Amino acid sequence: MPDELDYISERTEKELQLRIDAERNRKVEAPKGTCLYCYTVCAPDASFCDDECAEEYRIEQDIKQFQATGRRG
Ligand SMILES: [Zn+2]
Repeated sequence: MPDELDYISERTEKELQLRIDAERNRKVEAPKGTCLYCYTVCAPDASFCDDECAEEYRIEQDIKQFQATGRRG
């Protein structure tokens, strides 16, 4: 049943993508101890290892928001 297999494969891909997205969102919500930008281990109460990463991350989020919504936050 090739059609059924296609359906299952497509469904699994979507579910995997949802899980990846959820994992990404979770990391953003609980950033302590790991740099959000370069994923280097940093101070337990820090979200970034240095100011440069914080700035780069902010710019990246800006671009992502712009790509997703067509406007800047
Ligand atoms: Zn960093």
